[in-house]
Amino acid sequence: MERSTIVRVHEGLHARPATRFVKLAKGFESDVELVKDGKAVSAKSSVKLMLLAVKENQEVTVRASGADAIEAIEALIGYLENPRAGLDDEAGEGGSEAAAPAPQATPTAAASADGTPKLQGVAASEGVAIGPAFAHFPAEIEGPGRRLLADEIDGELERFRGAVASVQARMDRTLAKDNLSAGDRGIVAALRDIAADDSLTGEVEKLIKEGDDAVSAVIAAAAAVAADFSAVDDHYLNARADDVHAVGRQICLVLLGQDEVSLETIPQGAILIADDIGAWDLARAPLKRIGGVVCGHGGATSHIAIIARSHGIPAVLGLGDKVNALRTASQVAIDGNAGHVIVDPDEATRADFSRRVEAAAQERAGLKIFKGVTPIRADGTVIEVAANIGSLEEIEAAQEVGAMGVGLFRTELLFMRHMHLPSEDMQAETYSALAKAFAPHSVIVRTLDIGGDKPIAGIEFPDEENPFLGWRGIRMCLDRPDIFKRQLRALLRAAVHGNIKVMLPMISEIAEVTRTRALVEECAAELKAEGVPHAGFDLGVMIETPAAVLIAPALAKEVAFFSIGTNDLTQYIMAADRLNPTVAKLNDVTNPAVMSAIELTARAGVAAGIMVGMCGEAAGRPDLIPTFIKMGLTELSMSPASIQRAKKTIAAMAAEK
Ligand code: PEP
Ligand code: MG
Repeated sequence: MERSTIVRVHEGLHARPATRFVKLAKGFESDVELVKDGKAVSAKSSVKLMLLAVKENQEVTVRASGADAIEAIEALIGYLENPRAGLDDEAGEGGSEAAAPAPQATPTAAASADGTPKLQGVAASEGVAIGPAFAHFPAEIEGPGRRLLADEIDGELERFRGAVASVQARMDRTLAKDNLSAGDRGIVAALRDIAADDSLTGEVEKLIKEGDDAVSAVIAAAAAVAADFSAVDDHYLNARADDVHAVGRQICLVLLGQDEVSLETIPQGAILIADDIGAWDLARAPLKRIGGVVCGHGGATSHIAIIARSHGIPAVLGLGDKVNALRTASQVAIDGNAGHVIVDPDEATRADFSRRVEAAAQERAGLKIFKGVTPIRADGTVIEVAANIGSLEEIEAAQEVGAMGVGLFRTELLFMRHMHLPSEDMQAETYSALAKAFAPHSVIVRTLDIGGDKPIAGIEFPDEENPFLGWRGIRMCLDRPDIFKRQLRALLRAAVHGNIKVMLPMISEIAEVTRTRALVEECAAELKAEGVPHAGFDLGVMIETPAAVLIAPALAKEVAFFSIGTNDLTQYIMAADRLNPTVAKLNDVTNPAVMSAIELTARAGVAAGIMVGMCGEAAGRPDLIPTFIKMGLTELSMSPASIQRAKKTIAAMAAEK
């Protein structure tokens, strides 16, 4: 029995819808298959379903045989035809590359002033730490390649099934934890699906029955399934190959009795040293016990950097092969602000670090009183100290430190985390939740700022020699009204729920603002005609190109506010790539050229009577805040960790008067 239909699931049967589809199929006792282009796969295997790469609007056939075949077909066809069924339900899931501050690359070699061996890496998460070294260099697992005797096969199958059950049970325990972030939960859930999938387990059992030992069979089967994922023309599915390897590794470790090789045993305050740390290890790691992180791989925007920053763990990444020097270290001191790692520090260095750690703890405790402070300038004007965030998950951390709204909501995460473009509904839900959380304070949502350096599924980027000077931010959005209008419509809908403001990135000419305004009006008219509740919002621009600075007086007449993006403004004014460590010295916001661009912008904004704010990293620097306030800035937006210190700085300025 079979029935064909056109798939209406948004963006097709990617991971989440595939999992739901399989769950539904498994509820029936009939054998169920999904057929596309003549290829049939079991509807009870999410790996096989994903590999079928079913896209939205493609024709498929559901085939079932068994006692409840009619019901199965009905339910599964119903799922495929219901366009809402595939809508992403992860609105608000957070943590992201996009949420990270600008990658601040640092030189890769440093000489130590006092002769102590000092390694230089990327300063990926601020703070200092000193503690026992915890080296985490899991060895590559190799199969013994043993041939089984015929009477060993059943026992080996049992051993394998036991290992799978134990890995699944451990993943279930991880998923049951309350403190798991939505992002990490998604990662672990995807791994558990793979561990439970008979594409992998079936292949392993086949190899064991042919006489392979279980470990060798798992390695071979995982490599084969991973190769299938690597071969699909879809970079989201390509990334699932790593997941398959990760699951295979976990099963092998249990088989080898080595499953205790994990971060769970890390001592309190230890410095975790690794070449790289996988998502699975991270999701299980007792982050509260980790004093600091040092890795050979990674940079300021890698997964580990983002997690370290959001948990306040100092981190130095990107050490390369130099990390091997730490394998046998017994104590390590790290400076996450400077990117320094000191191996087995001497007495004086230990004392120095202990002092700095203590001072940092005292500063944190002392700053708490600034949570509820509303900083004002000497003339009584309120200075908004707001948060830069990129996901709903970060709301709590921002509120905890007393953020006066959001000065930069980076929307890239919503687009980068998924293998498909986020729907209007999903975006509207996310922006509405944000607006509600901070009302009556404002929430400034930045429209999609993405380019060829960070491609995302669903947008074809050209190969560019200089992606930072290419088709990014507002340039791409205006060329893709299908994507841009979806975001603008979502923002208009969310504006009903709070104080939403919208800001455009990478502006270099006035026409970009006027064209956007026309699109906003078009969207508002459409929503009105459709009877969908919506409200207007203030439209502002980021000032982050030299062109925007030079036309600031004219631009100020067109928009409701400016927000200075010092990360990009510095790289464009100084013509120094913000990711290139060899020109890191030039990439300095305090260079007179950059400070003068900031001043010109502030003067133009103040003269036109619009709000001038700043959302680049410099906004959180206590040494620069007084200068920015004197220039006329009335809003500073920064990572939540800097908010209380910034409020203190502004309060001290007012007290001096
Ligand atoms: C900036 O350029 O200063 C900014 C805030 O934007 P991003 O770092 O996301 O480019
Ligand atoms: Mg920028």
